[in-house]
Amino acid sequence: MNIGVLGAGQLGRMLALAGYPLGNRFTFLDTTGSPSAGIGEVIVDPHNEHLATFLEKVDVVTYEFEHLPVELVREIEQHKPVYPSSKAIAVCQNRVEEKALFDRLAIPTPAYRVVESAEALAQAAEELGCPVVAKSVTEGYDGKGQAVLTSADQAGDAWASIGHSQLIVEAFVDFVREVSIIAVRGRDGEVVFYPMAENQHEGGILRYSVAPLPDLDDSVQALADGYIRQLLDELDYVGVLALELFQAKDGSLLANEMAPRVHNSGHWTMDGAATSQFENHLRAIQGLPLGSTEAMAPTCMVNVIGREGDNAALLAIPHAHLHRYDKGERAGRKLAHINVLADSHAELLEKVRRCQTLLPEAPSVKWSFTL
Ligand code: AMP
Repeated sequence: MNIGVLGAGQLGRMLALAGYPLGNRFTFLDTTGSPSAGIGEVIVDPHNEHLATFLEKVDVVTYEFEHLPVELVREIEQHKPVYPSSKAIAVCQNRVEEKALFDRLAIPTPAYRVVESAEALAQAAEELGCPVVAKSVTEGYDGKGQAVLTSADQAGDAWASIGHSQLIVEAFVDFVREVSIIAVRGRDGEVVFYPMAENQHEGGILRYSVAPLPDLDDSVQALADGYIRQLLDELDYVGVLALELFQAKDGSLLANEMAPRVHNSGHWTMDGAATSQFENHLRAIQGLPLGSTEAMAPTCMVNVIGREGDNAALLAIPHAHLHRYDKGERAGRKLAHINVLADSHAELLEKVRRCQTLLPEAPSVKWSFTL
């Protein structure tokens, strides 16, 4: 099958790398004018002039980037199967829709308000109690389009700095850790779940994901599996879905946001699980049986952000795998990641600290669990 991918960044690159062994070919449609996949055939189409050419080449369409016009996805659906569907994309690119879906399915989320002016933002901050996090309803990712308010007086500045006409304001959650669950649903409705990962963010950008977790109670994994299964079934979803959650001290989980695609917090599966999220996404959208999601060893994904490090020294660490994205260095840009495997979490921590010393921009590792 020739797989059509909307978007042409590193996620598309890794999809293609996983798909060649299955005999797939890839055609990317890039609407940004700056593709980086560096693999397959890339159609650069910032002015929506080459859709017909793209459609002629592909058998099935998926995406690696959800901030696309929903109309474009709906139009493509008239001609070729699209997985996940435009319904999923519409929900995931709009925080109001996403929260409404969580509420409808009784999936707990932080308390929130929707506001359309600086005055309403100040009032919401008063009602929810500061600190609060204000987020643009659309187009936010990697902490962009967000501001934390420690007092309602900051509403005017926060409103101006975000510069959107509609915001979600959320109570600031005093979480023990951030976690994510990745699941895959096949065309026949079969669902498989990966072990949950703990995610460390700095400045809104993911830095480290570790999985499986040594202290995660089975009941917490089962809770997350249940939440994501409801979302998958409700959206009649096909492919990989990622759900980011906050975990409180008592083990309870609050949904933060979801992504209708392969996700950075699932990159550890490329080396640490029996079947990677990328391969499983491709299996799902082609109607093939899903692969085992079993973890092979304690694994940590280390993101390389902004500047690359000493790659030869990183590769000298036993069971460290470097995945570079063929992108130029730029502050805040995701350039590569390293998956490190170890026999124990203590050994994993030691290896990840070695990675950190070899990466100029890597923050110190802070895992919530003690070893
Ligand atoms: P998001 O784009 O919604 O994933 O937010 C980016 C990051 O901001 C998250 O990974 C958290 O570290 C932090 N954050 C977002 N919302 C909240 C919240 N309600 N309470 C505490 N931290 C938050």
